[in-house]
Amino acid sequence: MMKLDNKVAVVTGGANGIGRGIALKLAQCGAQVNILDLADCSETLKEIEQASGKAEYHQVNVSKLDEVKAVFAAIIEKYGTVDIMVNNAGINRDGMLHKMTPENWQMVLDVDLTATFYCTQQAIMHMRTKNYGRVINISSGSWLGNIGQANYAAAKAGVVGLTKTAARENAKKGITCNVICPGFIETNMTLKLKEVNEGKAWDSMMARIPAGYAGKPEDVANMVAFLASDEASYITAEVINVGGGMIV
Ligand code: NAD
Repeated sequence: MMKLDNKVAVVTGGANGIGRGIALKLAQCGAQVNILDLADCSETLKEIEQASGKAEYHQVNVSKLDEVKAVFAAIIEKYGTVDIMVNNAGINRDGMLHKMTPENWQMVLDVDLTATFYCTQQAIMHMRTKNYGRVINISSGSWLGNIGQANYAAAKAGVVGLTKTAARENAKKGITCNVICPGFIETNMTLKLKEVNEGKAWDSMMARIPAGYAGKPEDVANMVAFLASDEASYITAEVINVGGGMIV
């Protein structure tokens, strides 16, 4: 277990799926976790409490700058710093490019990319004053291009460029910035595939994963905990896949 005692973490999208796994893992490692999500977070808080971890929930739409600024001001006032920033909140609105509505394009860009800019900027402003920080942004293997995901792929590729730039700008300030690309992880976002074509869509996805099965949120959370730790202090500007061999 990595040691993150006394570290203050912010995790977006921690009410469900991968974000819940990340929030739980960071709390188990000793961090004080602040979860930013639109959705009810009681299940995550219950799991963290059962693990004797420390967490609090802030109901925030991370794609709204005024809400992001307000929650960071509150966290800084209470804890004095943000040591670990995990931008995980994300949505998809899939469809072929030639049929994609401007609304579905914009919605995905707003949540998956612009919100990552807002939260990264707020966190880094404080990290720079402390000469310490860990930014971990959740992209996707789809950043390399995926049929039906022009909006999602563009946003997730944007996350890679944003993170590599933040990494290079802040490397001398003791701040590392890295990207994790999950492959196919069992969450609400992916489980809906089990209902498509009597489960055949799920089966064909499993066939594309060399490991032969979908990952779990904790597979991603383990990598987040490592990148957040002191042991990862010389790792920055990297894109790390957690996909059972699916992303090459
Ligand atoms: P999920 O749908 O299970 O959870 C996403 C969480 O983000 C939810 O709790 C939701 O309420 C929150 N959220 C969405 N919009 C928000 C907003 N505007 N403000 C605040 N919170 C918001 O999804 P997941 O599968 O856990 O995905 C987490 C991240 O991992 C996403 O960025 C996703 O793109 C990425 N990802 C997932 C997979 C996968 O296989 N599940 C693969 C690659 C990348």
